[in-house]
Amino acid sequence: MEENWIEKDIEKLPVRPNLVDYEETCRTFSWDEVGKKFDGLPSGGLNIAHEAIDRHADGPLKEKTALIWHGKSGERKTYTYADLKKKTNRFANVLKKLDFEKGERVFILSPRVPELYIAVMGILKNRSVMCPLFAQFGPEPIFQRMEGGDAKGLMTTERLYDKKVAQIADRLPALKYVLLIDAETHRDERVLSLPRLMEEASEDFKIGPTDEEDMALLHFTSGTTGKPKGVIHVHKAIYTHWVTGYYVLDFHPDDIFWCTADPGWVTGTSYGIIAPWLHGITNIVDEAEFNAERWFKILQDEKVNVWYTAPTAIRRLMRLDVEPLKAYDLSNLRLIQSVGEPLNPEAVRWGMEKLKLPIHDNWWQTETGGIMIANYISQTIRPGSMGRPLPGIEAAIVRRNDDGTATVVTEPGKEGDLALRPGWPSMFRGYLHNEEKYRKSFVGGWYISGDLAYRDEDGYFWFVGRADDIIKTSGHMVGPFEVESALMEHPAVAEVGVIGKPDPVIGQLVKAFVSLKKGYEPSEELKRELLAFGRKKLGVAVAPKEIEFMENLPKTRSGKIMRRLLKAMELGLPLGDTSTLEK
Ligand code: ATP
Ligand code: MG
Repeated sequence: MEENWIEKDIEKLPVRPNLVDYEETCRTFSWDEVGKKFDGLPSGGLNIAHEAIDRHADGPLKEKTALIWHGKSGERKTYTYADLKKKTNRFANVLKKLDFEKGERVFILSPRVPELYIAVMGILKNRSVMCPLFAQFGPEPIFQRMEGGDAKGLMTTERLYDKKVAQIADRLPALKYVLLIDAETHRDERVLSLPRLMEEASEDFKIGPTDEEDMALLHFTSGTTGKPKGVIHVHKAIYTHWVTGYYVLDFHPDDIFWCTADPGWVTGTSYGIIAPWLHGITNIVDEAEFNAERWFKILQDEKVNVWYTAPTAIRRLMRLDVEPLKAYDLSNLRLIQSVGEPLNPEAVRWGMEKLKLPIHDNWWQTETGGIMIANYISQTIRPGSMGRPLPGIEAAIVRRNDDGTATVVTEPGKEGDLALRPGWPSMFRGYLHNEEKYRKSFVGGWYISGDLAYRDEDGYFWFVGRADDIIKTSGHMVGPFEVESALMEHPAVAEVGVIGKPDPVIGQLVKAFVSLKKGYEPSEELKRELLAFGRKKLGVAVAPKEIEFMENLPKTRSGKIMRRLLKAMELGLPLGDTSTLEK
């Protein structure tokens, strides 16, 4: 075993993991068996909201806390499954009364308040399609998505409506109703008070027949590589949410779970809402933005068992150089999972040192609907690796051939396209209004993810970079992740984004943008030190030749470093779609 691998001792875990024998679980896995975990609708078919809410509210979990909500200014509210059933029924009745039909799109532009979570399930009960947006989006990104998504309805707050939506509403003729979360009275026939409608609506609602292939969610991608795409998911996606909740997040019936993602990003929907409720566990929501102290306090006070977060948040904690265990009791925390970007080995080591827990990386995309490759709680972690495919998922490294076929690369360590065998339940069913792009993502019987990776001899997958970000320098192919991870090991470095800068001699030159940890200042000396550090770690061929310090790297709202923006800035080119840029 490699020195830096993190071995697990199952006996030392507080509860027995759901996944113990990985190979055996994969061998015996069947999606049909997963289907048996669900109730099905009394009226026929499969509906996400019935499986996530009503099933529990009508059974022994009725009085169990489904949602613990922390408000920005310190309030705390709790909702049982029975509470949520009533409220989501009311919401569904509101939509029904306003003639929202099956398949019609209802957008949500809201801070993380309880109404957001109620609306998601209410929309699904009415068999309409739920489309979440980041509340921080400006008017144009909101307009683009609502127009492109044929929005018939929008739920938002008074403030967001006045500030961002009122000015674009005339350009959205298909938008029939706006439901204002906090308005006491209706403004006109189109802009209505949600509390008022909710009050008038009945607490009883019968979900109509829903086919498992009916469209349920429309999610826009993060926009890291270009214009965000509208990704279509169907009710059947919950098969994946259930399985990943069970094997990857290791949900046990009494778990308290916290996913820090906003539902404007797919993680915040699949795992911030759906997966924990499918399992009937308690889900934490925090309305506030990142704040290290607040986060550790929630983990402590709510006795969180399973925590799902992202590298960007972990790097922020690393940057602050905090000692959480000195100030907080995190003894209930059993599992940390991370998604969204490559998790540098340094971050995994930081977790071991500062939290006494490893951080488990997992990989997926808006298009895959749920986690596809993961490090499991019972399994050895190889820091820097995304882990192994979910049972039931066939992942491979493939090479695309000119004749439209694809060849599986069997040789360990060889880079290629990370691909999945189509047919998993949460596979996207299309890019909205872009059939051609959808078709093009399938080659030779594989879904091509757009990420490059390699597989080691034991079946662990290692991320190399996005196909668009790969750097060709002096005849070498360099993945930005490798360079970024190496620089991250330097004590001064908080965050790194690496790009290829066109160079007449070597093709592309490796350039690193670096932000520094607290207590370090940019200087020519530090630059020289980092360049030397890179050369020592990576060798001259791969090491960065240029370093530029930056206070903060440009990121998407979902916390991903936007390398294409670094590159455009470097070259003085137009920035392209910046609708998801964190400002
Ligand atoms: P867009 O498709 O609009 O450019 P995006 O790909 O960032 O945006 P998402 O669907 O939110 O939108 O992100 C999926 C991508 O995030 C993956 O394809 C991969 O590049 C990256 N990613 C997610 N998890 C990991 C991980 N664990 N390791 C490395 N990369 C990851
Ligand atoms: Mg993508």
